[in-house]
Amino acid sequence: MTHSPIAFFDMQAQQALIRAEIDSGLARILDHGRFIQGPEVDAIEAKLAAFTGAAHCVGVSSGTDALQIALMAEGIGRGDAVFLPAFTYTATAEVPLVLGATPVFCDVDEATFNLDIADLERRIALVLAEGRLRPRAVIGVDLYGLPADWPAIQAICDRHGMFVLDDAAQAFGASLHNRRLGTWGHATACSFYPTKTLGCYGDGGALLTDDADRAALYRSLRTHGEGTSRYEVLRTGMNGRLDSIQAAILLAKLPLLEAELAARTRAAGWYAAGLRAPVVVPRGFAGAASAWGIYTILLTDAVVRARVQAAMQAAGVPSAIYYPKALHHQPAYAAAHAAGIGGGPPPLPVSEALCGRVLSLPMHGYLTEEQAGRVCAAVMAGG
Ligand SMILES: *Cc1c(COP(=O)(O)O)cnc(C)c1O
Repeated sequence: MTHSPIAFFDMQAQQALIRAEIDSGLARILDHGRFIQGPEVDAIEAKLAAFTGAAHCVGVSSGTDALQIALMAEGIGRGDAVFLPAFTYTATAEVPLVLGATPVFCDVDEATFNLDIADLERRIALVLAEGRLRPRAVIGVDLYGLPADWPAIQAICDRHGMFVLDDAAQAFGASLHNRRLGTWGHATACSFYPTKTLGCYGDGGALLTDDADRAALYRSLRTHGEGTSRYEVLRTGMNGRLDSIQAAILLAKLPLLEAELAARTRAAGWYAAGLRAPVVVPRGFAGAASAWGIYTILLTDAVVRARVQAAMQAAGVPSAIYYPKALHHQPAYAAAHAAGIGGGPPPLPVSEALCGRVLSLPMHGYLTEEQAGRVCAAVMAGG
């Protein structure tokens, strides 16, 4: 019996559906020649705002640059504390450091993989009590596509006058209480890295916000801080624009997204039905509709995980570990972690334990039930 190979992320099946639109979109750009700030950028900004329900969308060069522009717009820098989960992709922590601010790593909830609200509050209180750094912002992450607890994060930040930034890089298309991400927090950073739920064919990103003043600042900052004319420089900005070509790819892909999100949700259902204890499958929480960017299970420990990965490899099933190391243990961030809260920051036990237990399975909008069954069989054979 021959089996179709299982892709971890599948961009080939998707491309086959829209290849003609992509070719014609690229040909149009070669004809008009407006490679920077072409009409495709305006068009995709309008469509992304409409899709998410956000009042404003500003296309930028990557998810990382979206985070950076959002913090620059608030004037965040030296002496400021930016609270974020210790269990996330490196970019979330990198950006405050690049701007001279101090990332304060918070623990996450084992059931949702997202910010532990009680731990966030505890660390804000510690920073306030110490009086050395100003608590300025929280970057919540919707890890693996599942929304963070935005109402709780917003309530805490409102009490302290802090900026709320949603790092939705893994979660474009997810919603919470029937509102898409993009309308929670003061601003939302999106990534269109090729393997994200909405991806281009290179680097790309966007900022979503309901605040017109912030949107205007983001537009200025992505183009070197320009004013109303191109040669008026109002503030220190960066080169952070979305290319016309990447915008054209997103224009071709966006119409597929609703169906792909539904297919991902179906695939998550097949996994949840096919995997059994002691494997722990992601359940989310009431009111949250995950974008299922990455499907991550929890295994008993690192020994079992190594066994499961080996069984999967033997069966020709790809797997990945997001993330093997909590950020406060990364050499680049260890010093900042120690400096954030004097006298030794409280431990981050959940973030550390997850690094030894998480395993991500193939997930995309073109996975078949038969393939999901083979993935489950390989996991159960190892576990
Ligand atoms: C991918 C990702 C980013 C960065 O996005 P890029 O477009 O690659 O710069 C930021 N945060 C998280 C959580 C991500 O997964």
